[in-house]
Amino acid sequence: MSRPRILIVGAGFAGYRTARTLSRMTRGRAHITLLNPTDYFLYLPLLPQVAAGVLEPRRVTVSLSDTLPNVRLVLGEAERIDLDDRTLHYTGPEGEGGTLAYDRLVLAAGSVNKLLPIPGVAEHAHGFRGLPEALYLRDHVTRQVELAAAADDPKTCAARCTFVVVGAGYTGTEVAAHGQMFTDAQVRRHPLRRGMRPRWMLLDVAPRVLPEMDEKLSATADRVLRERGVDVRMGTSVKEATHDGVVLTDGEFVETRTLVWCVGVRPDPLVESLGLPMEKGRLLVDPHLQVPGRPELFACGDVAAVPDLEKPGSYTPMTAQHAWRHGKVAAENVAASLGLGGARKPYRHRDLGFVVDLGGAKAAANPLGVPLAGVPAGVVTRGYHLAAMPGNRVRVAADWLLDAVLPRQAVQLGLVRSWSVPLDTSSPELARVPGGPEQRQEVSARSGPGAAIAADTREGETGTGGSGQGRAGDEPAKGQPGSGTASTRPGSGTAEPRSEAETAKGRPGADPAVRRPPGSGIAEPRSEPETAKGRPNAPRSQAGDEPTKGQPGGEPARNQPGPAKGQPGGEPAKGQPGGEPAKRQPGGEPARNQPGGEPAKGQPGGEPARGQPGGEPARNQPGGEPAKNQPEPTPQPPGDKPPADQPPPEPGAAPGPVKRTDVPDDSAKGDS
Ligand SMILES: Cc1cc2nc3c(=O)[nH]c(=O)nc-3n(C[C@H](O)[C@H](O)[C@H](O)COP(=O)(O)OP(=O)(O)OC[C@H]3O[C@@H](n4cnc5c(N)ncnc54)[C@H](O)[C@@H]3O)c2cc1C
Repeated sequence: MSRPRILIVGAGFAGYRTARTLSRMTRGRAHITLLNPTDYFLYLPLLPQVAAGVLEPRRVTVSLSDTLPNVRLVLGEAERIDLDDRTLHYTGPEGEGGTLAYDRLVLAAGSVNKLLPIPGVAEHAHGFRGLPEALYLRDHVTRQVELAAAADDPKTCAARCTFVVVGAGYTGTEVAAHGQMFTDAQVRRHPLRRGMRPRWMLLDVAPRVLPEMDEKLSATADRVLRERGVDVRMGTSVKEATHDGVVLTDGEFVETRTLVWCVGVRPDPLVESLGLPMEKGRLLVDPHLQVPGRPELFACGDVAAVPDLEKPGSYTPMTAQHAWRHGKVAAENVAASLGLGGARKPYRHRDLGFVVDLGGAKAAANPLGVPLAGVPAGVVTRGYHLAAMPGNRVRVAADWLLDAVLPRQAVQLGLVRSWSVPLDTSSPELARVPGGPEQRQEVSARSGPGAAIAADTREGETGTGGSGQGRAGDEPAKGQPGSGTASTRPGSGTAEPRSEAETAKGRPGADPAVRRPPGSGIAEPRSEPETAKGRPNAPRSQAGDEPTKGQPGGEPARNQPGPAKGQPGGEPAKGQPGGEPAKRQPGGEPARNQPGGEPAKGQPGGEPARGQPGGEPARNQPGGEPAKNQPEPTPQPPGDKPPADQPPPEPGAAPGPVKRTDVPDDSAKGDS
């Protein structure tokens, strides 16, 4: 008899544990396939430590092929599931499609950033759900402190050194706690203007930090945050995010270049497409983690609404602890359904408590309900994480040790750009790349990710003179990261070739009316007067408008790919980042200057040229230090939109990145 085919989608806490348990249980009696976009399991709870420079990024990953014997790893993202045919269609990392057949399917695709309909957030905030976002934040924060230290103007200095985190759940709380330590350490070595200290703000509409957790845990975290200097503002959120700062719900305008969006997560949109009963965006399963009426279909982790047998009428929360334990039960029940294991079991759990790492030796923990603070909590927390990680423990411990005795490395590598980690994405685990699969589908792009790179790096230090801000809701530039293809995975940036009309659907940056997955909470298109609030000098494209294309000197929204063809930062030439993918592109054979190829000077990934991120700013470049005797670029007056494809204003201005200053901003409430 042929061996049954078990397909697991997602290698996070739930999927990894399912695969590992099944591998041990079946011992070669089943074909186990694991589909995941990356070749690693990501230990998400330590992500704030990556952003704060405590841990190097690979420490929080565990190789799937090294640790899952007898499991076939397929790299890719599930795009469509045909339940009747028992087949799943996926897109691989280089844009190629594939189909996998199964006898049992386990869905464990996790969750994605949650958006709220708050003006400006989609454009100016960054989420915190994946490794690219953590790397981006580490670089961005480092850069802001460096720019602040060099700023002549106290206002600019203060704005750059104000970091706003929205959402005081465990993610936001840990990000703010670690962030304050990280930036304080930086300014100790490179002081800011006299008396100035980086300010981290933690906002939430809830009355207390860690609102969904035990009150003692919350009180401990609150005390540690305040003692450390974090500006904790509960009952407050963001009403609007702009390029220059955020408008709080109490009316205050906070100038900042950094908005970290930790308002929580929502289940991966993959499950929405199945047409099966859902509970708040999660796929409804029975206590055996099986989808009712579909004996071949199981779901676990964040994507599944699993009845909480300890609290009848509710569902288990979206936490790593539950996902990890779901995975084991799902595996046992899959094996049982194939006659390869014992009897089926319902999912039951015992609350083991929670740990929140607050940086240094500080933490808040309540193991088995015993509240701990200070050093004992710190020891328990780190011990818990080491025990819970399925691998790489020695390296993690070594990094902790080094961090205790050596100063942190405050250098920015600039490998993850603002546009490559948009908040509105269904693939937070993957950074978008120039020449990614989406570009191969539409080489007639009017603008490209190379443009985005330039845009991403062009913000003037004072933030003035901006124009041409793209907005979520703008017509996506074709061939942009974010304009691509997937039909069932909004924002996934992968896909099958489709018509131009089709490509707008389901993509960030596409018409919001069609791209919004049900219940996603993505902002509605807004009117100009509404969106313009708090954004002086920033004429922008409107929802549904075609984005302002290729305006020299136009400052793009931070998360949005920028300008267009033929413009500084516009569509690059063939073989350039963001242009028509040349051979050797991701997905093809990488060309020189291309990600994956041998980098040329002055190209992203290459040795930084003058004026490149990480390099000395070029003179005479848009956004860079003006060349001697050259006039400053004139800001476009509001409403005076230059035509698309307008030539550069200065003959010497060359396409490409110049001075890197991503932006961010923020707002809302939440928990994660
Ligand atoms: C920064 C942060 C800190 C956290 N800290 C804690 C904590 O301290 N304690 C705690 O209990 N919980 C914590 N959580 C929550 C916890 O990490 C999640 O609840 C848990 O990861 C859910 O597990 P999962 O397996 O469902 O999803 P994930 O672990 O997110 O895994 C999902 C996997 O599916 C893959 N995937 C997604 N879409 C597809 C697709 N279409 N096709 C194929 N594969 C796909 C993803 O790449 C990923 O590998 C934290 C979360 C974050 C973001």
